[in-house]
Amino acid sequence: MGSGARLTASRSAELYQRALELMPGGVNSPVRAMRAIGRDPIFVARGDGAELVDVDGNRYVDWVMSWGPLIAGHAQPDVVTTVTAAARAGTSFGAPTRAEVDLAAEVVQRVPGAEMVRMTSSGTEASMSAIRLARAATGRDRVLKFAGAYHGHVDGLLADGGSGLATQGIPASPGVTAAQAADTIVVAWNDRAGVERALGEHEPAAVLCEPYPANMGLVLPDEGFLRFLREATTAAGALLVFDEVITGFRVAAGGAQDRERVMPDLTILGKVIGGGLPAAAYAGRRDLMERVAPAGDVYQAGTLSGNPLATAAGLATLRLLDAAAYERLEVLSRSLGQGLAEAARGAGVEASGAWTTGLVTLFFSRAPVRSYADARACDLDAHAAFCRGMLDRGVYMPPSQFEAWFPSLVHSDAHVDLTLEAARDVLGELA
Ligand SMILES: *Cc1c(COP(=O)(O)O)cnc(C)c1O
Repeated sequence: MGSGARLTASRSAELYQRALELMPGGVNSPVRAMRAIGRDPIFVARGDGAELVDVDGNRYVDWVMSWGPLIAGHAQPDVVTTVTAAARAGTSFGAPTRAEVDLAAEVVQRVPGAEMVRMTSSGTEASMSAIRLARAATGRDRVLKFAGAYHGHVDGLLADGGSGLATQGIPASPGVTAAQAADTIVVAWNDRAGVERALGEHEPAAVLCEPYPANMGLVLPDEGFLRFLREATTAAGALLVFDEVITGFRVAAGGAQDRERVMPDLTILGKVIGGGLPAAAYAGRRDLMERVAPAGDVYQAGTLSGNPLATAAGLATLRLLDAAAYERLEVLSRSLGQGLAEAARGAGVEASGAWTTGLVTLFFSRAPVRSYADARACDLDAHAAFCRGMLDRGVYMPPSQFEAWFPSLVHSDAHVDLTLEAARDVLGELA
């Protein structure tokens, strides 16, 4: 780290050349390739608290934190100890374990809408399964989702997806059947009239949303919008499904539903719940969850679901997340979010900041961003230049306008200061 340092990248460059021959685009998930900011990816050697070290020995303040799971930091000692002990006792059994019961109890205790839990290995699987359950429970096929929201790479849910789809400018994807696409109705976020109209016209099984969308950058709901969704879905006989894969255990102990006091019928969890190992879950009302096999007739399964290492990492992480942790995260996120917005203002760069506990975005847009259309209207070239400049100064931020920064419990005030100093520098050059 250090201001103004130009970092070397010869080993990353060499690995990337090999990777391009062996893996599509050289990566195992598109956003890692950093194409949106016009540079090559950085290959990571290790993580240390809130910092990353790359294969060339450069050190960065990490604001990506594996895109959310690492709320407790890289290689957090309790997590490492617990996972190591779990590995010694056997890495997978395909039979139930005590840790799964403990983790389910922790989820039920924290998340208001969770009466029962089913674990999966990825958020994608959890959202696919929650939708299957919603369809079974209502006898309806269609699903209403919001433009710019991302719910994993489930075929039918790729329409107008945020995150990597937005980053690569892909509106949906070839390979999704017309029938699957036709079952997805897309509405603009914060558009009450649009939701009312779609509910009336399409009679969907569910309205699926990220309660605090963070895959088009962070775009908070307008005052009362989530409550409106609750009332409108109930009136229309549709289920309300909150995808809290990012917000769960991050914006509050029980996620956005806890913070906003709006109870969904089903909740999708991921990222933090696995503490950096592959785990996710769907949860909800007992009468709905008891439709899932083998209690009920809705089939869903997984060889590594509730895996001992992942449940150990998830439990160890959740146990670190007490009231003091959320207070710290709140203060840290505000100082980062406010600081970035002030740095832009100071430099005369058109930008607006968005932040909540554990999530931050700097939009290169003068007007506040309320929808995916607003997010897409940002100056993406300015964002890309900002991001390249920050990386050169040892700040590893999300390499896309359509993603959030992920403050963690191990980011210090010094990490924030260093980041803001770099931001003032880079924004000054951009202006
Ligand atoms: C990351 C994410 C997913 C997908 O989770 P994976 O584990 O990557 O499959 C789903 N929904 C939201 C809101 C996400 O951010």
